[in-house]
Order: sequence, then structure tokens, then C-alpha cells
Amino acid sequence: MTHKILVLPGDGIGPEVMAQAVRVLDTFKAEGEALEWSFGLLGGCAVDAEGDPYPASTRAAARAADAVLLAAVGGPKYDNLPRDKRPERGLLAIRKDLNLFANLRPALAFEELADSSSLKREVVAGLDLLILRELTGGIYFGQPRGRRQDDNGDEQGFDSMYYSVPEVERIARVAFDAARKRGKRLTSVDKENVLETSRVWRETVARIGRDYPDVELSHLYVDNAAMQLVRNPRQFDVIVTGNMFGDILSDEASMITGSIGMLPSASLDEHGKGMYEPVHGSAPDIAGQDKANPLATILSVGMMFRYSFARGDLADRIEAAVKRVLANGLRTGDIARKGEAVTGTRAMGDAVVAALATNKR
Ligand code: NAD
Repeated sequence: MTHKILVLPGDGIGPEVMAQAVRVLDTFKAEGEALEWSFGLLGGCAVDAEGDPYPASTRAAARAADAVLLAAVGGPKYDNLPRDKRPERGLLAIRKDLNLFANLRPALAFEELADSSSLKREVVAGLDLLILRELTGGIYFGQPRGRRQDDNGDEQGFDSMYYSVPEVERIARVAFDAARKRGKRLTSVDKENVLETSRVWRETVARIGRDYPDVELSHLYVDNAAMQLVRNPRQFDVIVTGNMFGDILSDEASMITGSIGMLPSASLDEHGKGMYEPVHGSAPDIAGQDKANPLATILSVGMMFRYSFARGDLADRIEAAVKRVLANGLRTGDIARKGEAVTGTRAMGDAVVAALATNKR
């Protein structure tokens, strides 16, 4: 079966980092893997070409593909457009259109980069955790919301937080499945001592857990989880949580690893179809200068093979190649320490492709 991929380079450094990720696809295709890909427009480049950040042509291609690879969208050129024409609208629209409800963000602290973290080397070196955030429900989407007068006649803002049992069941299953592929430990994060939503969350996760006796399940309150992440992040394997808690904890975990240019992510639907993208944005300050770190986008390709194509072997090869180039001392500007030689985007891609050639099975 041929895997069909839609490639969306986007804006800013997007096309530069995506070009290096596509070289990884080229490498595997040349080895005989059945891969096919086409390019599409999303974000600012789509506004320029078609007047719409998520044009119909991209929508059709995204629906037809088995997986979508995205670099980044946005830039100062688009900051003054009306809200519905902003590049980030394109991002929200494609996530919604493809029903991508599960967001996976690994936080991996490469041994070689442990000094870039804001925490001590001995606390982070070797960190390898995965945060799973529910992406389409919870307080960010709950209705009603708005402004009204309270009983004293004062203006108040209000939001609604809901999680239905099926919504929790499906994210819990993705989390248990992911834990099964890793260290077999899952921590569910909620605020069960205060929130009714969290009671439903906790009961449902525990019930689904009975189908996964091989995965060790624990529960943490979100305030404790935030504390434990900076105290001893290596105690975690997989964390699953709702939309708002996940938003906050995943950014906290990213910072612990030390470099935004190294972090991939995945957003999955119910059938394992997904969109894969680096956590960083379009970095307009360094766009077009061969300075961007392509490794987060390359690692996103790895996640695509692992989660959408069940090819953990190819994902392992990509991760090993990235470790190898770091061990060999290659550093783009964002991960170089003072005095270290700086490698460009393209040369970093060369090094990864060369490392892949040496770790063939
Ligand atoms: P950003 O992630 O683009 O950049 C933050 C800082 O990190 C910058 O100094 C940048 O140079 C650096 N950086 C980011 N990625 C890097 C890489 N791969 N290699 C080296 N350095 C890197 O965030 P921002 O500056 O807040 O946003 C810039 C634009 O990107 C905005 O238009 C924003 O809306 C957009 N954005 C898009 C996404 C996305 O597409 N998912 C996410 C965040 C921001």
C-alpha cells in the first residue's frame, strides 16, 4: 500500500526546514518504501495565492491524504489582515476539518543538549516524555460563553467546561495505546478535587484502563503535575490531559528540553490519520538565511511513520540519525553554545541524510 502525504511548507522558515524533511522522504523512497507526496498551500502563502488561508484545493488534498506534514505558518506581513484571513485561521481550520482531536507532544532532552535547559543537566539529561492533549473539546470550545451581568449588576466574563464520556474515552485510548508502545506508564492529569468535569474524566480514564492491564495508570492533580515536571520530569512516561491543562503543561515541558527548534508534534484523528508539525512557528527573524534548525520538522516525519504508518522502525532510524548528527557536534544557531561552530539548515539536512544511509537495516 502506498502512503499518500500532503506536504505544506507554509511561511517564513517553513519552506527551508520542509525541504530538508522532504529529503528524508526521498531517502526512504529511494530505498523502496511506497511513499507518494504532493505539495499544497496553507497559511500566508495560501492567502497570497488564493485569498484564503485554507483554500479548497488544500482541503481536498488534505482529506485525500493519509497524513499531512506541515512546517509553520504566519508572519508580520499578515498580522493586519481581518481575522478570517489570518494564517493561523488556516491552521485551526485544517485541524477542525480533519477532526484531529489528539495532540501528541514528545519532550525529548537529547543528552548532547542537556546544558541548553533552564534546569540542571542531571534533572533533564535523557528526559523522554510524551504529553497527550485533548485538542477539540474542553473549556476552549464550551458553550455558552461570553459576557453578562452578574447578580450585583457587574459585568462578568464566563466560559463553559465540558467533557463527555465518549470524548474522554477516545483520548484515553490513544494515550493507553501510546503508552503501550513506550514505557507502559500513563499519568492522567485533572483537577478532580474541584471540577465535576475532572470527575468524569478520571472515572472514564480508569475504566478504559481496565482494557490495558499491561499499562500502569496513575492520576495527578494539575497543580502537582506542573510542580513535578520541573522537580523531576524523568518520572513520567506518557501524560494525558484535557485541552487547557495540556496547553500549559506541554509548553512547560518544551521549555525543559531547551530548544524549540528540536520539538516535533502530531495531531491525530480517530483512525490514526494525522498532521505532523514542529512546535515552533515561522521564525520570520531568520527566514531565508539558512539559519533555521530543520530537526523538529525531520523528527515530525519520524512521528508520522510511527503513528500514522505503523513504521516504528523508520521512526527509530530518523531519531537515531538526529542523535548521531548531534553527537558529531553539528549545531544550528539555536542550539549552539557560545564559541561553537554553527551549521546551516541545508548542511544539517545533509548530515541527517548521510546518517540515515549508515543506519539502514
Ligand atoms: P517562533 O517559534 O516562530 O519563533 C520564536 C523564536 O524561536 C524566534 O527567535 C525564532 O528565530 C526561533 N526559532 C523558531 N523556530 C526555530 C528553528 N527551527 N530554528 C531556529 N530558531 C527557531 O514564534 P513567534 O516568533 O512567536 O512567531 C512567529 C510567527 O510564527 C508568527 O506569525 C506566529 O503567528 C507564527 N506561529 C506559527 C505557528 C505554527 O505554524 N504552528 C506556531 C507558533 C507561531
